[in-house]
Amino acid sequence: MKRLEGRTALVTGAARGIGLEIALAFAAEGAAVAVADLSQEDCAAAAADIAAKTGARTAGIALNVTSEADCERAVAETEKAFGKLDILVNNAGITKDGLVLRMKEADFDSVIAVNLKGSFLMAKAASRPMLKARAGRIINISSVVGQTGQAGQANYSASKAGLIGLTKSLAREFAPRQVLVNAVAPGFIRTRMTDGLKDEAKAKISEMIPLGRMGEPGEVAKAALFLAGDDSAYITGQVLAVNGGLYM
Ligand code: NAP
Repeated sequence: MKRLEGRTALVTGAARGIGLEIALAFAAEGAAVAVADLSQEDCAAAAADIAAKTGARTAGIALNVTSEADCERAVAETEKAFGKLDILVNNAGITKDGLVLRMKEADFDSVIAVNLKGSFLMAKAASRPMLKARAGRIINISSVVGQTGQAGQANYSASKAGLIGLTKSLAREFAPRQVLVNAVAPGFIRTRMTDGLKDEAKAKISEMIPLGRMGEPGEVAKAALFLAGDDSAYITGQVLAVNGGLYM
């Protein structure tokens, strides 16, 4: 029996990177998956690719997570396509790095809007069917820098620390209805987000990581899969670090 047989999931930012690997891992374990991302073309392509690889039911849903109307529509479209919504993964995220003295107010606001407010809006929209069903999982993709802070990432680390507070508050609020809310805090993972780093910076980062290397998106997906499935039925309000030991 597959681990997510009969479940349905909505993953934001799922057209590439970590989100795509999570969507693929869920589909491979039997879930029907809504692949939600900014571009309709990219979501449709990713959804078709996942369906071809796994045989799972998929749907591509274009949305901007900063829009409450988009978030509500994405949840409604998922329910229409698959009949219900069991699992939400808030993975969409952006960076706009810079030292604080040079960071523009707009760059602070946009990172908070996508990473933190977007997760709140999606959780709010998804919580309606989940609370009604008295079952559900919400998984927020935070970051190691939300736990440690990072020079040059005041906006991003604040958004990711905020996501941990949001996770714990939602976990407390939704626990009476058996809706479990947890966060995954990846360290440095090889995706487009980290591709821009110079080789020298990547080598320095790898030296700081006890396991001696950056992580792969599939390694984050395995943590999300655990938090989405029955093996984590007594876990809520937690932050699961997938960081090679970078922060303990
Ligand atoms: P990525 O490759 O840049 O993918 C992020 C996805 O989110 C993209 O498909 C992007 O769409 C989408 N997105 C951006 N803004 C959106 C919005 N407003 N509404 C809907 N979708 C939006 O990044 P990643 O590395 O896979 O990161 C995924 C998550 O993991 C992020 O939350 C990130 O902060 C977190 N994380 C990553 C690392 C790492 O080392 N890579 C470490 C810790 C945490 P477009 O491509 O169309 O812009």
